[in-house]
Amino acid sequence: MSVQKIYRVEHEGAARYALEYEGSYRLIDGDALSGPPYKTAAVVVPNRILSAVTPSKVVAIGLNYKDHAAERNKPLPPEPLMFMKPSTAVIGPGDAIRLPRGVGRVDYEAEMAIVIGKRAHRVPAASAMDYVLGVTCINDVTARDLQTRDVQYTRAKGFDTFAPIGPCIAVGLDPSALDIEGWVNDERRQSSNTRQLIFSVPEIIAHISAVMTLLPGDVIATGTPAGIGSLTPGDRFTVKIEGVGELSNPVVE
Ligand code: MG
Repeated sequence: MSVQKIYRVEHEGAARYALEYEGSYRLIDGDALSGPPYKTAAVVVPNRILSAVTPSKVVAIGLNYKDHAAERNKPLPPEPLMFMKPSTAVIGPGDAIRLPRGVGRVDYEAEMAIVIGKRAHRVPAASAMDYVLGVTCINDVTARDLQTRDVQYTRAKGFDTFAPIGPCIAVGLDPSALDIEGWVNDERRQSSNTRQLIFSVPEIIAHISAVMTLLPGDVIATGTPAGIGSLTPGDRFTVKIEGVGELSNPVVE
């Protein structure tokens, strides 16, 4: 099955999924999250591209690239280090990341995100990929000083606008060896490949679904490579993932 890109778009005041083909968008009939084959209807010109998904939860994995663990002076975790970002933090491509006042340093983290397509409860790694709808980009925006100060990550990772997701879901894309980059304005700051993940996507799904049921549309952020740094008002941060595209967001005060 070839890779198909589906976008959540605004059409006539409603959010709809559309299948993109050579720059044109066709509305999808029925439930896009249940996966292909897709039945498409009219070609539309979307007013806006929305966040690729509206998850019930974003589950994120910390320290999942060796080079990033090294730059944070942290030992490699013996098992996936799990935390959550609230669904209210999610924004779409082009939406502004708002830097909260008085929290100190706020960092970007370019990450590959997995979108779940089927309810997953206690799924073994060997069959975990059956529950994956596709791949998208996420910026795991982090208030770094608060992360260091608090014993857990809820505050540092949970501000409104701290989870840009998109631009599309690349349905059927193999997540195991994709180039990933993070750009501040026109400068490349992060560059790696998902082959470098310490815990693979199937291992992560097995680990998370042993704790909590993953629902269709839920998002797993798989960790960031080295090269993290801070954001300043006026910046634009872009996550680029091979086979998915670019997720770009301006940064405002
Ligand atoms: Mg992260």
